[in-house]
Amino acid sequence: MSHFDQFHSLCVNDPIDYGQKVLPHIPPIYATSTFIYESPDKAMEVFKGNEQAHIYSRWHNPTVDLVEQKIAALENFGLEGQAKGVLFSSGMGAITALLMALQLKQGDTILTQGNLYGTTTDLLNTVVANLGVEVIYANLKDLQQTEDTLKNKQVKLLYIETPANPTIDCYDLANLARLAKKYNAKTAVDNTFATPLLQQPFQFGIDYVVHSATKFLNGHGTALNGIVVGTDIDFIQQQVWKMRKLMGANSNAFDAFLLNNGLKTLALRMERHCQNAQSVAEFLASHQAVSKVNYLGLSPHADHSLAKQQMAAFGGTLSFELKGGLEAGIGLMRNIKFCKLTASLGTVDTLIQHPASMTHIKVPKAQREAYGITDGLIRMSVGIENLTDITNDLDLALN
Ligand SMILES: *Cc1c(COP(=O)(O)O)cnc(C)c1O
Repeated sequence: MSHFDQFHSLCVNDPIDYGQKVLPHIPPIYATSTFIYESPDKAMEVFKGNEQAHIYSRWHNPTVDLVEQKIAALENFGLEGQAKGVLFSSGMGAITALLMALQLKQGDTILTQGNLYGTTTDLLNTVVANLGVEVIYANLKDLQQTEDTLKNKQVKLLYIETPANPTIDCYDLANLARLAKKYNAKTAVDNTFATPLLQQPFQFGIDYVVHSATKFLNGHGTALNGIVVGTDIDFIQQQVWKMRKLMGANSNAFDAFLLNNGLKTLALRMERHCQNAQSVAEFLASHQAVSKVNYLGLSPHADHSLAKQQMAAFGGTLSFELKGGLEAGIGLMRNIKFCKLTASLGTVDTLIQHPASMTHIKVPKAQREAYGITDGLIRMSVGIENLTDITNDLDLALN
C-alpha cells in the first residue's frame, strides 16, 4: 500500500449520516446524482416500481420535489381537485417538454398569439414547425375569429400568454378555455408575468400552466428554472415527467433551493411590485415627456376591465412611449442611474429596457410596430425599492 492508498477510504466515505442525525430548519440542497438503498430487496422493489423512492436526480430530487409541490399548490390554491408540477432547467425547457408531452405530430395545429415571448415563437417556428405541425398566429382577443379557427382546423393546443409583452395585453382566459373545450383543444397558459398570486388559470378551466420561474417566482435573478403544472395528474406524472427524464431538461438541487428561497417572499414581493408599478404608471402618465403608458392598472388600457375580472392585481410590468421616439428612448437608457439596464424581469430591483435598440433590434420596423413596439417604447419591470428612488431616477433621466 502506498502512502496515498491508505487515505483513500477515509477521504471518500462520509463519517456522519446527516440525513438521520440532524433536522435542518431549511430544506437542504440535495447535491447528489443518485440515492442509496437500505437493502437489495428494497432496491428491487423500487426498480420494479412497487415502491416509491429516489433513484436518480434527473428523475427526482428531494429539493426539486419540494419546489414543484409548492408552486403546484400555489396554482391550485382555493380550487377543488389537485394539481401537480414538474420542474425544469428553464422556462424554455418546461414549454418544450409540454409540447413534446402532447405528442404533436404532422397535421396537428397550434393556435396562439403573435406577441409571445420571443424564444417561444422561435421554438414554434423551428422545432415544432419541423415536426409538420401548423402554427397559427391569430388575434386571440377576437373570440369569433378564434372560434372559426378552432372549428375549421384540428387544433390540438391553444397556447396563451397573458399578460403579454410589450404592450401588456391581457387575454380572456374563461372564454378561451370555454371555446377550446367545445372543439376538444387543450389549453396552456404562460403565467410568468402574473404568477399564481395574481392569476390562477385553472380557475378558468385552463388545462396547463407553464412558467419561467426565472422571473417573479425566483425574484432575485439568481437561477433559471421552469415549471409545467396541470390538474390532469396522470398526464403530468406520466407524460410531462417522462419528457424531463428523456430530454434531460431537469432542474437541479442548487437552482431549486434558490427558487424555494425566493418563493418564501413571493406574496410580499408581488404586493409591493403591484403597488410600486401602479404608482410609477401614474407618475409616467402625468409626465410631459411621455405620450402613452401601457399598464393594466390604468383605466385607459384597453384590457383594464378584463384584467380586473381575471387578476387579483395588475402586476409589476409596464411599458411606455416617449414623445421623442428612438433618440429619446436611447437618451433615457443613457441617463438612468438607479434603474438597471437589462432585458429580464421580475427581480426585486427595477429593470428597464428599450426593445427597439435591444431585444427587438433584429425585427423589421414594420413588423415590430404591428405589435406596438414603437421606436420610443420602453419596458419596465418595477422593483420593490423605495418608490421615490424609482420615480426620481426616471424624472431626472426624462428631463
Ligand atoms: C423568460 C420567459 C420565458 C423563458 O424562460 P427561461 O427561464 O428564460 O427559459 C418564457 N416565457 C416568458 C413570458 C418569459 O418572460
